[in-house]
Amino acid sequence: MSDLRELYQQVIIEHSRNPRNFKELEGASHSAEGYNPLCGDQITVYVVLEGERVKDIAFKGSGCAISKASASLMTTVVKGKTRAEAEEAFDRFRAMVTSSREAEIDEEALGKLAVLSGVREFPVRVKCATLAWHTLHAALEGKGEPVSTE
Ligand code: ZN
Repeated sequence: MSDLRELYQQVIIEHSRNPRNFKELEGASHSAEGYNPLCGDQITVYVVLEGERVKDIAFKGSGCAISKASASLMTTVVKGKTRAEAEEAFDRFRAMVTSSREAEIDEEALGKLAVLSGVREFPVRVKCATLAWHTLHAALEGKGEPVSTE
């Protein structure tokens, strides 16, 4: 377990230092801003939606390693998925980071999002980890107002 945990930690650090899809997306059909005042994380999520499918997704922003790594992982997971599949991934992710530390992690269902399972041991970091997802949700809903985790 400690080996796995170390591996997860390395993936998080790697994604935070070298985030994927970290750019403003030209021609985005949907976008939203999110803010986590508890930590100071700020993010803008851009989506190109083609029909029901997320054809492209990117983000920009500043924040802690967890918020950045989570946003980076999210973009890699959501790209190519339908809007409904993206929402399902959000539900699974949220359930994971808010579960008790004894609860089983369904690594098969969560895929690479499982690397953030350690967040559940640090409730104050849960908002860092879910900020990108809340912001994606708002972008897909087409709400113009910035998201705050408060
Ligand atoms: Zn944070």
